[in-house]
Amino acid sequence: MGTYVVTGSASGMGRQAAEKLRAAGHTVIGIDIRDADVMADLSTHIGRRAAAQATLDACGGILDGAVLAAGLGPIPGRQRLIAQVNYFGVVDVLTVLRPALARAVNAKVVVIASNSTTTTPLVPRRAIRALLAGDVDKALGAVRIFGSRSAPMIYAASKIALSRWVRRHAVTGEWAGAGIRLNAIAPGAIMTPLLAEQLANPAEAKAIKAFPVPVGGYGDAGQLADWMVFMLSDAADFLCGSMIFVDGGSDAYFRAESWPAAVPVWGLPRYLVKFLSNMRSRSSPGAT
Ligand code: NAD
Repeated sequence: MGTYVVTGSASGMGRQAAEKLRAAGHTVIGIDIRDADVMADLSTHIGRRAAAQATLDACGGILDGAVLAAGLGPIPGRQRLIAQVNYFGVVDVLTVLRPALARAVNAKVVVIASNSTTTTPLVPRRAIRALLAGDVDKALGAVRIFGSRSAPMIYAASKIALSRWVRRHAVTGEWAGAGIRLNAIAPGAIMTPLLAEQLANPAEAKAIKAFPVPVGGYGDAGQLADWMVFMLSDAADFLCGSMIFVDGGSDAYFRAESWPAAVPVWGLPRYLVKFLSNMRSRSSPGAT
């Protein structure tokens, strides 16, 4: 049996994931701003450091896996919190926990992204770049022109930046090379308190209900947690830097033709540089 950390363990998908892991006999360290083993505010640097340190103390420096589920929805007026919790609340915590994950055998990490990453139009690239560079103020500045739509914009930007961070890091020596499998899951609208809060607002409810979901209805938090538990299992040993969409078909609906995409002409230089540098490192003495 393993030791896992779950952020956002007090509610919704994080809570379901923690309950399923515990039911399977694992030890779970739950982190949340309320009702958790480790109570910490992941919107602040101090809170994130304290949460990560408390996790390291509780797991004895060896962690078999992590589910990063703490987050906020695109509620207007919470733009700064959305950026802080959804992006930095994941990245900063994982960065501190990485050595403990590397000490385990075949550790797995599941980050909760969102299908808003590929279904929200016009998300400013500047906001995504700013988050990846660690600059919340610049990211918020980049979405301000959207006025009342700036909450969904910073929400999508936070999840795109998070997904890029996952994909960039998953394949590196520090993660894949250290035996850690880092992947993301991208849910669509899942019935949790977060979605219920959005549905309570008539304008948001109208937009959510009008959004195309080919299979219809909303996703079930328990089913999403089943996916997460699967992504933490040995079956996911060969899963690395992937983003699994569990969204009733919305991503496929919008992107059936544009994804998968062949490498375009302007992408060739980057592709070749990566390909050749990989060949060189494999043929150098001592490389495996
Ligand atoms: P939820 O509101 O049920 O659970 C989120 C948890 O995060 C709560 O327990 C909350 O207390 C915790 N949290 C919020 N701010 C925090 C902070 N500052 N510090 C520590 N903990 C904090 O929501 P959910 O729907 O289960 O969402 C889980 C994740 O899934 C979130 O990242 C959300 O963005 C993402 N997501 C949700 C949906 C959906 O439709 N429900 C869709 C796509 C992505």
